[in-house]
Amino acid sequence: MRTLTEQDIRGSFINCSKGEAKRLAVPRDLDERPWDDLDFLGWRDPGAPDRSYLVTEREDRLVGVAMRFQPARRGFLHRSMCSLCLTTHPRGGVALMTARKAGPAGREGNSVGAYMCTDLACSLYLRGRKVPETGARFEESLTLEEQIARTRGNLSAFLDKL
Ligand SMILES: [Zn+2]
Repeated sequence: MRTLTEQDIRGSFINCSKGEAKRLAVPRDLDERPWDDLDFLGWRDPGAPDRSYLVTEREDRLVGVAMRFQPARRGFLHRSMCSLCLTTHPRGGVALMTARKAGPAGREGNSVGAYMCTDLACSLYLRGRKVPETGARFEESLTLEEQIARTRGNLSAFLDKL
């Protein structure tokens, strides 16, 4: 994806108020992110451990989503798989991210959840730039390009529900 600025990011959020988008923690190392290898930028909020965010491009438009992070329950899901990149991680490596829906549905408290890599580094796992701790990626018969297309499709399907 293209290189984003803090301003791009703050202006992209579809499911939080302008005030929240202005205050939320944007990564400080945007210049050093491997943009060419990212399908989306995802990050955790260092000041609010239950919050995470992702920003991606859809038809040349930026879409940012604020999410709540739900740690895996005790004794539940020893290994689980990210619904975006299909990487399997040991417990803690995948979390249920819930996002408030955009607009009135969100104000009424409706949200959408999906299991995602807790560190939101899906793009890097796909490309082998990051290796899951003791988890693994399936032996894929798909090419990297196909896997990237699938991940983007999965992300798109999630965004469509918001
Ligand atoms: Zn993932």
